[in-house]
Amino acid sequence: MPNKIFKKSQPKPSITLVPSLGLDVDDLVTDFKRNYSHRLGRDQNCRSPHYAYEALSLTVSDRLIERWKNTYNAYRDQDCRRAYYLSMEFLMGRTLSNAMLNLGISDAVHKAMHDVGLELEELLESEPDAGLGNGGLGRLAACFIDSCATLQLPVTGYGLRYEYGMFTQTIANGEQVEKPDHWLRYGNIWEIERSEYAYRIKFGGHTERHIDENGNVRVCWLDTHDILAIPYDTPVPGYQNGTVNTLRLWKAAATEEFDLQEFNAGDYAESVAAKNTAENITMVLYPNDANENGKALRLRQQYLLASASLQDVIAGWVRDHGRHFAHFAEKNCFQLNDTHPSIAVAELMRLLMDIHGLSWDAAWKITRNTMAYTNHTLLPEALERWSVGLFKQLLPRLMEIIFEINAHFLAEVSTHWPGDNERLKRMSLIEEGPQQYVRMAYLAIVGSYSVNGVAELHSKLLQQGLFRDFYELWPQKFNNKTNGVTPRRWLAACNPELAELLTETIGDGWITDLSELQKLKPFAEDKKFRKRWHTVQQEAKQRLIDFKKQELDVDLKVNALFDVQVKRIHEYKRQLLNVLHVIHLYDRIKRGDIANWTNRCVLIGGKAAPGYFMAKKIIKLINNVANVINHDPEVGDKLKLVFLPNYRVSAMEKICPGTDLSEQISTAGKEASGTGNMKFMMNGALTIGTLDGANIEIREEVGDDNFFLFGLTESQVEELRHHYDPVSMIENDVDLKRVLMLLECGHFSQFEPGIFDAVIASLKSPQDPWMTVADFRSFIDAQKQVEKAYKDQDRWTRMSILNCAGSGKFSTDRTINEYNQEIWKLTPVPISHP
Ligand SMILES: *Cc1c(COP(=O)(O)O)cnc(C)c1O
Repeated sequence: MPNKIFKKSQPKPSITLVPSLGLDVDDLVTDFKRNYSHRLGRDQNCRSPHYAYEALSLTVSDRLIERWKNTYNAYRDQDCRRAYYLSMEFLMGRTLSNAMLNLGISDAVHKAMHDVGLELEELLESEPDAGLGNGGLGRLAACFIDSCATLQLPVTGYGLRYEYGMFTQTIANGEQVEKPDHWLRYGNIWEIERSEYAYRIKFGGHTERHIDENGNVRVCWLDTHDILAIPYDTPVPGYQNGTVNTLRLWKAAATEEFDLQEFNAGDYAESVAAKNTAENITMVLYPNDANENGKALRLRQQYLLASASLQDVIAGWVRDHGRHFAHFAEKNCFQLNDTHPSIAVAELMRLLMDIHGLSWDAAWKITRNTMAYTNHTLLPEALERWSVGLFKQLLPRLMEIIFEINAHFLAEVSTHWPGDNERLKRMSLIEEGPQQYVRMAYLAIVGSYSVNGVAELHSKLLQQGLFRDFYELWPQKFNNKTNGVTPRRWLAACNPELAELLTETIGDGWITDLSELQKLKPFAEDKKFRKRWHTVQQEAKQRLIDFKKQELDVDLKVNALFDVQVKRIHEYKRQLLNVLHVIHLYDRIKRGDIANWTNRCVLIGGKAAPGYFMAKKIIKLINNVANVINHDPEVGDKLKLVFLPNYRVSAMEKICPGTDLSEQISTAGKEASGTGNMKFMMNGALTIGTLDGANIEIREEVGDDNFFLFGLTESQVEELRHHYDPVSMIENDVDLKRVLMLLECGHFSQFEPGIFDAVIASLKSPQDPWMTVADFRSFIDAQKQVEKAYKDQDRWTRMSILNCAGSGKFSTDRTINEYNQEIWKLTPVPISHP
């Protein structure tokens, strides 16, 4: 084993004392050249920008690693309280440009690459995205760990190292085609494998009970099929502060004896082939956003993450404190990103009792004081439930523990509400019926000391609806933490021209204290400043056009309104409503209703879960409508519709600076928070949106005059459900009627009869959960207000400046400060670096 190289009794070898690496242009050039020619073995005949990217990344990474070790040692020496962010997804995107920014060497690297005759932009583009997440939830985890490092908080991210991340989306004949994303194909220079910290993960087998020497009942989990979890660490640098935290991702591997057993039986080749079963566990990210998936492989993934991460934390604890757990909860806490890692509640109980000999009560006290749970959705289809049968078969010991937690919990409920059997049934961790299920959200609530939603409205709805019984039992557990995004990636790095204008105008304090953007407000009244702002925005639009030029066969013009909706394709997000509006605009052009017209480019992008029939139909519809509109000479520059393929983090970095209008049009009460809305606002886009998720707080910050509001409120939506009649709404609105007519007569499906029948039927159904038709009129009217505002470019620019100025609240620095003050209670650890 790699960790047996140095015997404990020997003096430590002095191999770690290397002088720290310089950050000047000359230092960077020298190291870049050495990495390129010696470490990678390339020369001037190699044409691929990939190796130059790798050589530069190695150069930057070496500089992070010094700071990484300092940080690690500081945490250990100070024996500080620490938090662990457990998430099945970290949607990191690219690493290099962010590392350069946070190290403060962006300009020096730029010059260095110029000096060796390379185009930095081209190198940066050759880095693949780390697409280890579906959408908002995974990107939030990535923004969180950036803010934790910037705030110098001792927080480690724990996740899974999927061999294949989120699929690559291409479009063929208007339809989504998924291609596997083998992002590790050319290696990943940012990660370090640490096989010395591998752990064994058990599956299957059965349990046995015996009495130990002290007369206590002990449980053994036997005859299991074990695998190994191998950690891969990626550095997470704070913003120019010497802190480099860790993202530790687990890869599944076969144990050594796994093959040996079979080998002795004579099946060598088959036993080696069977390694795949183990390694398959972290092979692929499940591409379902906000949707539960009852597959055994997914449960294996969740348990691997929970068990490996907890074993790792406990091993570190035992190393530093011995096997005494009295103070464990004072020094450690775990934030569960949704219910995906919530089996950690039962696994911590198992490790403390079965491995470290604690009593039930002692273990439960620790568990309940270390776990904290974040809910991300109210959608019933996203609430995870595991069949008890599957659970028993795969994780028999954990199932026993969950049953026991439930027994204790239900006793507590009975004491609180004697004789209320309905409530017992409602609150049980086990859903009864023809099939029994484990309700993972309830396990997470019962096992945690904190439960939070991700925007004010969402947290309120959790307390009044989904988790009402639990809120009545433990009101003090519930709290809100409105999401954010990191201003380093989503403003400083992705929009350097705007960042420069901001810094020139109000100083650079905004990068680590985004509330400083308030100082921009008076400049909204400064004509010269508005002109500069407008120029910067137009240039960003041009860059977006240039970036997309090769891919798209449409001609976009910067003077048009750039109207953008990019996010996962989901019925609740209502890309359909957006399409209805586009068809309405097209209809107006065809009718000649074009007085005072505002040219508009509508850009829509996002991936559909491969098994989500309606979402895929919506993509097809967008492309078919685009095809008709963009090829109609009568329409010309008045209206363009474009589907942006393969939406991902690196695409959003180019899209949000070039956006005028941000579409946040979900059915009220369905979008927990949204974070795309925040990225757009920060970059000066105006929002058209419903009173949903964080839109409500965005509007509060920027003021009613600078936000295009439309649609039913959450309570109006719920009220209308009882008598929703979309067919008569269509009948009573001539514009909507014409739009439906165009759809129904096959205007956008001339050679594909009937392909949109299901879409049309969903719009006309009184059962339509998303009530798209109900918000049509109000949406069209709000879009008219948008056009009016855009006609007055000076007014638009003023509103744009005020949106950016009001976006301070939506920094994850603010969010993480709240998590820390109210849940984690960590002390920042300053790191000294020469
Ligand atoms: C920010 C982001 C999201 C979340 O967008 P919402 O509009 O909040 O759904 C999803 N995917 C990517 C790539 C993102 O950058």
